[in-house]
Amino acid sequence: MNIPLLDLKAQFQPLRAEIMAAVQTVCDEQGFILGPRVAAFEESLAKYVGARYAIGCASGSDALLLSLMAMGVGQGDEVITIPFTFFATAGAVSRLGAKPVFVDIQPDTFNLDPTQLERAVTSRTKAIIPVHLFGQCADMPAINQIAKAKRLHVIEDACQAIGAGQGGQRAGVLGDTACFSFFPSKNLGAFGDGGMITTNDQGLADALAMLRVHGSRVRYLHEAVGINSRLDALQAVVLDIKLKYLDQWAEGRRRNAARYDQLFRAAGLLDRVTLPSTKAGNFHVYNQYTVRVSKRDELRAHLKEKGVGTEIYYPLPMHLQNCYQDLGYRKGAFPLSERAAEEVMSLPIYAELSDAQLTYVVEMIADFFKRQ
Ligand SMILES: *Cc1c(COP(=O)(O)O)cnc(C)c1O
Repeated sequence: MNIPLLDLKAQFQPLRAEIMAAVQTVCDEQGFILGPRVAAFEESLAKYVGARYAIGCASGSDALLLSLMAMGVGQGDEVITIPFTFFATAGAVSRLGAKPVFVDIQPDTFNLDPTQLERAVTSRTKAIIPVHLFGQCADMPAINQIAKAKRLHVIEDACQAIGAGQGGQRAGVLGDTACFSFFPSKNLGAFGDGGMITTNDQGLADALAMLRVHGSRVRYLHEAVGINSRLDALQAVVLDIKLKYLDQWAEGRRRNAARYDQLFRAAGLLDRVTLPSTKAGNFHVYNQYTVRVSKRDELRAHLKEKGVGTEIYYPLPMHLQNCYQDLGYRKGAFPLSERAAEEVMSLPIYAELSDAQLTYVVEMIADFFKRQ
């Protein structure tokens, strides 16, 4: 059997006619940058997450950068996040001349540990970027409480968590701004790059809309030094169609996750494989189904040989990256992030997987441990 980590063709085929018709319309209209098609999708997405405003931009990375810019983060400021994330979370901070400050993760959810947050705050701290890693929200009530007491901004890195929930609300309204990515492998994937920021704050929404067009509200008059970061109409029409199916796909991912849990348990593998865990009150959308295993690299090689695609998200925490040596962190500074980087492995979880495929994946993992 051949089971790739992600099969976007399986998702596209049933939507082919609907999407191609919308693409054709945009081609006929020849209006590509922002405009009514993008505005319509911004409205759909705002409604979906329950936010007052949504501002499209070129990527999730830019959504983070624009959020920080709108909050006035710059040289000399500090922004707290986790080291066990995709590079963009910390990269956005550095791009503005500010300093990423790391706080370790909780071992079960892989998300920011709020009990370690307060001691990372200094007089220079301006914002916190909790990441909703793998599709599960960070502990936002605890993070927001500290942010409020210390007067810090909170930016949700919700790039992997569109549709995820916490306490009856969706990711997108749990901080001051929330950043979404439409990179093709995310749960809502574009046909290229794309991103969105949501917020309930009118002042931030206005600033974001200005900053994404070179800091201009009136053409050729510039109030701030912004950037060029826009969502285009072709991506917007594709995303607006796909958004209608997002909850259905999330249900498929959740069903597959529950089935994996069941299969691992039935195979007696729970001493070898640590399953993902969901915190009470969280609605997990499984952008990734990430397990911890021993002998991970040998197991991955075995699975590859058997046709099963896997990936390591993420193999090297931010504080140990070459580009961040100047931050002065040493190996051992964030032991839970470092350990996660050594043990995690993500398995195929997309909605279109069949029960036979899920069963095969678990069988091949059982097969590996039987030989040990
Ligand atoms: C994908 C991702 C980003 C960046 O999104 P792009 O659209 O690829 O720029 C940022 N943070 C996290 C956690 C992500 O997974």
